[in-house]
Amino acid sequence: MESTQVDFYSLTLPQLRTFLTGLGKEKFRAQQLYKWVYEKNVTDPEMMTNLSKDFRQSLMERVTFKLPEMVDRRISVDGTRKYLFDIGNRQTVEAVMIPSDDRMTLCLSSEVGCNLACKFCFTGKQKLKRRLTAGEIVGQFLQVKMDMGETRLSNIVFMGMGEPLDNTDAVFDAIEIFKSDYGLNLSRKKITVSTSGLVPQIPLVTQSGTRLAVSLNAPNDEIRNEIMPINKKYPLKVLMEACREHANTTKDLVTFEYVLLKDVTDHIDHAEQVSQLIRNIPCKVNLIPFNEHPDSGYQRPSRNKVFQFQKRLVDKGFHVTIRRTMGRDIFAACGQLTSQYKGRPQQQNVSTGVLG
Ligand code: SF4
Repeated sequence: MESTQVDFYSLTLPQLRTFLTGLGKEKFRAQQLYKWVYEKNVTDPEMMTNLSKDFRQSLMERVTFKLPEMVDRRISVDGTRKYLFDIGNRQTVEAVMIPSDDRMTLCLSSEVGCNLACKFCFTGKQKLKRRLTAGEIVGQFLQVKMDMGETRLSNIVFMGMGEPLDNTDAVFDAIEIFKSDYGLNLSRKKITVSTSGLVPQIPLVTQSGTRLAVSLNAPNDEIRNEIMPINKKYPLKVLMEACREHANTTKDLVTFEYVLLKDVTDHIDHAEQVSQLIRNIPCKVNLIPFNEHPDSGYQRPSRNKVFQFQKRLVDKGFHVTIRRTMGRDIFAACGQLTSQYKGRPQQQNVSTGVLG
């Protein structure tokens, strides 16, 4: 029986309809089921009172409602929460909830490890072990939602472990579930997919209507080839063209993330080159002073350098923010995520101390 069971959380509404049709049920039952699970948080078929007894029995036999197990939770002094999820076979992924004045943003993982091997990234130091299923992505959200209680998660960013566009089937199915009126009902504008530059897959972000963020991180091909090997395959010219196409089609701004590495990408001439690269693309720029992590070999630039870099771009007419470092004390800051779980399942609150 086990082998024929399907994971409820991996099914988009149309997929669930098809599945239920196969069980001889009406298509509208899919909406009913979505409402029980995503609106009412009921996952025990016995309690789904508007379904017939034989249907509930079929659900118990054919469908699983299993969420990734939360094995660790750490809370930073700034309110950031980092979660570790066990997805089986002793593999884990992390999700980070980042609070700010006007939103609660959940940063989700899409893969265990990552093959893109960006030199400055902690996750990139682990080879890809496994791509997550849509259910494991949705499951991260549901677990954090439960943990947050009355506080509503307002935004989702795919900026955790893994390259989301290397796992498109699962990521875009999960996005469909997030967006579904009967599912989690999040606006497409509140969901951002971040890529290191897998150009052929960028149109999928466009079609999904979600926002696009690109980890630019370098002012020219020479430096980008060095720190982001994907650039050798899809150099800046084709990447910028894909970004322009996305912005023109969606009328949304592209976000360019730019990690400032001391003496590598933080020179004032680099800001000048970046302004040339992105000059015809409706966009905003998010500067990320590097968050140091073990053996990275890179350093964080001085505040002065960061402000100078920002000023040069602002003077050129760009909207430029500097990402506030959140969750540094719990090693949850950008580029610091990894599968660090080595112990037995535990759950704890941590308000101080460096835990990475
Ligand atoms: S920055 Fe993103 S794409 Fe690059 S190695 Fe890290 S997780 Fe992978």
